[in-house]
Amino acid sequence: MRRLSALVTAFVVVCLISIQAQEHVDHDVYWKIRQEGDTRSQILRTLHFLTDVYGPRLTGSPNLKAAGEWAVRQMEAWGLKNGRLEPWDFGYAGWLNERLSVHIVSPVKDHLVSEALAWTPGTNGLVRGAAVQITIPPRPTREELAAHLENLKDTVRGKVVLAGAPQRVLVTFNPPPLRREDRELLALYDPAGPATPTGPPAAQSAQTGQPPRQSGLNANQIDEQLNAFLLAGQALVRVNDAGRDHGQIRAFANRAYDTAKALPTVVMRNEDYGRISRLLADGHAVELELDIVNRTYPEGRTNYNAIAEIPGGDRADEVVMLGAHLDSWHAATGATDNGIGSAVIMEAARILAAVDVKPRRTIRVALWSGEEQGLLGSQAYIREHFGSFEEPKAEFSKLAGYFNIDAGTGRARGLTVFGPAPAAAILRQAVAPFSDLGVLGATTTRSRQRGGSDHTSFNEAGLPGIGVQQDPVQYNPYTWHTNLDTYERIVEEDVKKSAVVIAAAVYHVAVRDEPLPRFTKEEMPPRPRANPVQTATTSEPPR
Ligand SMILES: [Zn+2]
Repeated sequence: MRRLSALVTAFVVVCLISIQAQEHVDHDVYWKIRQEGDTRSQILRTLHFLTDVYGPRLTGSPNLKAAGEWAVRQMEAWGLKNGRLEPWDFGYAGWLNERLSVHIVSPVKDHLVSEALAWTPGTNGLVRGAAVQITIPPRPTREELAAHLENLKDTVRGKVVLAGAPQRVLVTFNPPPLRREDRELLALYDPAGPATPTGPPAAQSAQTGQPPRQSGLNANQIDEQLNAFLLAGQALVRVNDAGRDHGQIRAFANRAYDTAKALPTVVMRNEDYGRISRLLADGHAVELELDIVNRTYPEGRTNYNAIAEIPGGDRADEVVMLGAHLDSWHAATGATDNGIGSAVIMEAARILAAVDVKPRRTIRVALWSGEEQGLLGSQAYIREHFGSFEEPKAEFSKLAGYFNIDAGTGRARGLTVFGPAPAAAILRQAVAPFSDLGVLGATTTRSRQRGGSDHTSFNEAGLPGIGVQQDPVQYNPYTWHTNLDTYERIVEEDVKKSAVVIAAAVYHVAVRDEPLPRFTKEEMPPRPRANPVQTATTSEPPR
């Protein structure tokens, strides 16, 4: 008898524990979220405004500010409250390209496909000059590069200078996958599985695989020294090889963010760059004609994060955040990076407002700026509002979680949260009712390394950042930072699913009794000592 009662007690205890670990999701609200997102989606309309009307949304540009103002107005029209632009100091003038034409005029006449490098000056009207191609030694030291360039001094004056030999971009026989395998994801999100996501495959690199020399300059340093040389040597224009296939161009920035520190510079598609290079190698005199109009905006020194809220109830001082970066590069209209992430986040907020949720915690949308220059907007926001685990502000303990999406048009497949295993267990159950939409679970990370996207600014501070993993769908090989990143590349069915999943997960975190569990003082990984600012031209795509 005694033994039986002990067994009964043990059974009751086991039941209680499993009841405690069981999340109670609100299936009624989940159903409404699903219906609203599926039947009344506004995502493509939102994306149209962010890309066609306001794109490209380069940090510091009037386009980006206008996009932020529009987003706040739109979210208020949907019923969100406290819409505002929160300023932060970028420190550099904004920049935009208004006009660009590049032609070969001798020995043949043709149009050449190019993009302007950001934060470089225009040509001040139509200019014409002979093309020369200079070589750049691999990984030189400062002295070696200076000596090499000294010999080229008389070569570059008044010329259109092709900086380096064209890259050989080989035909790809294995097309990259569009979807991630369920099997791989289920293993990743298995509570007993690996704790760190493997992430999507790295972008195909057009670089040749020379092992870097220990003492050599990095690409940024070579660029800086070459720019100074070309300016002093009074070259006319600098031309860089895009080094990618099918006419893709990734145009980033003059890293000084100062038009006085570079020549007018274009990035030319590999096919045109190669053609000029081959003509020069044959001994042809090649003449190019260029017209570049760029404009700078001193007021761009101040940038803005766009914020709006659904006020909470009995826990209104606690916050669940969801966000994406609104800024883009300038070679296209920034649809997959990250107009669509912003549109998905706005749509998730719209759905929640439309179904009239009554969250206990405040739900706050943040559309960041300065992400492409090194996650600058989100870092400024965190400094201002939260501080860090080591130096917390009053609001530090009030953030229940921050959801971020920034990997193109692919549907959401899972979540990675900075925190202990129970945080992933909660999110896993929060999204479980949406497995039919492709979302398969959640896992954790312990990394406080900044990079990739804005949730890592939260992770770095020791806050519960949540990154959304997505299907790759042409992101890394085609649209990420390229001139092909347009509205047309969006898969509507995928982004509608992502918005529904994020809306539901945000809602769940906003109404459950406790915020997402965090690492304890003992468990908190140390903040990396060197957390370098992500450069604009990192070859790794964000994930
Ligand atoms: Zn991005």
